[in-house]
Amino acid sequence: MKVGIPRALLFYKNEKLWTKFFDELGIEYIISPETNKEIIENGSKYAIDETCLPIKIFLGHVDYLKDKCDYVFIPVIKTAQNTETCLNFRAQFDLIKNAFRKDDLKILFYNEDSGKKYKEPKAFKKLCKYLKIKRSLGKYAYRLAKQTQLYYEFFRTERQEDIMNTTNKLKVLVSAHAYNVGDKYVGEPIINMLKKLNVEPIIAEYFDAKKCYNASLQVSKTMPWSYNRHLLGAIELYRDKVDGIVLITTYPCGPDSMCNEMIIRTYKDIPIITLTIDAQDATAGIETRLEAFYDMLNAKKE
Ligand code: SF4
Repeated sequence: MKVGIPRALLFYKNEKLWTKFFDELGIEYIISPETNKEIIENGSKYAIDETCLPIKIFLGHVDYLKDKCDYVFIPVIKTAQNTETCLNFRAQFDLIKNAFRKDDLKILFYNEDSGKKYKEPKAFKKLCKYLKIKRSLGKYAYRLAKQTQLYYEFFRTERQEDIMNTTNKLKVLVSAHAYNVGDKYVGEPIINMLKKLNVEPIIAEYFDAKKCYNASLQVSKTMPWSYNRHLLGAIELYRDKVDGIVLITTYPCGPDSMCNEMIIRTYKDIPIITLTIDAQDATAGIETRLEAFYDMLNAKKE
C-alpha cells in the first residue's frame, strides 16, 4: 500500500507526526512536491471562485497525487486547544470526496475532535484498526511519532527564541498560518524578501501553541478559530521584542479578515503591515510595500 500525503494545509503542522508514524509502521508514502504554478492552476479547476488560496493549493496537491498512490491521506481535525478549526478543515474529507468524485479517489483519514471523544490518540487508534495493524504496534508507532513531533516543535521554538533575544538586526513578527508561511509559493518569497532587507523574520507559528492559546484569552475570550488564536497569542506575548508585525493572509480568508482587523485595532503602538496573497505570481507590489515598511521601521529605530 502506498499513501500520498498532500504538502498543504495541516501537513505543515503535523509533518513529523505523520511521516514518523508511517515510517514506524513500514507503510510506504509519497509527499507531493513544493507548491508551484501548475499545482495552483490544477487545484483551481476543482474549486469555485470564492475558495481560499490554501484550499486551491490543497486541491492541486491532491490532484498531483491521485494517480500516484493507493490512498490520499486527509485527516480531519475539528478542534485544537479547545477551539474550533476553520470550517474548511472540518469539511476537508467531504470537499475532496466531492471534488474528485469522478476519479474514484480512495481517502485514508483519521477524525480528530479533541473537544469531544475523538482526541488524537483515539483517532490514531481507529486509523490503526482500519489499517489492520496490531493494537500494541499502532500505539507504539503513534507515541514515537508524537514524541518526534513534540521534540521538533520544542527545538524550533528554542532556536527562534534564541535568535530573537540575541540578534542585532531589525526583527518582525510574521503572523501567518503554518500552511501559508511554510509554503514555497505563498510564504517563502516574503520571508526571503525580509532576509534580503537584513530583517530577522520571527515566525509566530513557531511559538508554543498552548502558551499562545492562553495568551490569546487575554485579548479575546470569544474568538472561535484555534489557529488564529495561536497567532494572536504569539503577538500578545512577543510584540515587545520585535520592531514590527507582518500579517500575511491569503485571499479570501474569513477568519483572517476578522482576526487581523482585530489585531490592527488592538495593537496601535507597533507598526503593522498586512500582505494579502492571491493566485497571481507578481511579487513586485509586495516587495515595494515591504521596502517602505522597512524604511519606516529603520527610521523609527534610529
Ligand atoms: S483559515 Fe482561511 S486560509 Fe485557512 S482554510 Fe480557512 S479560510 Fe482558508
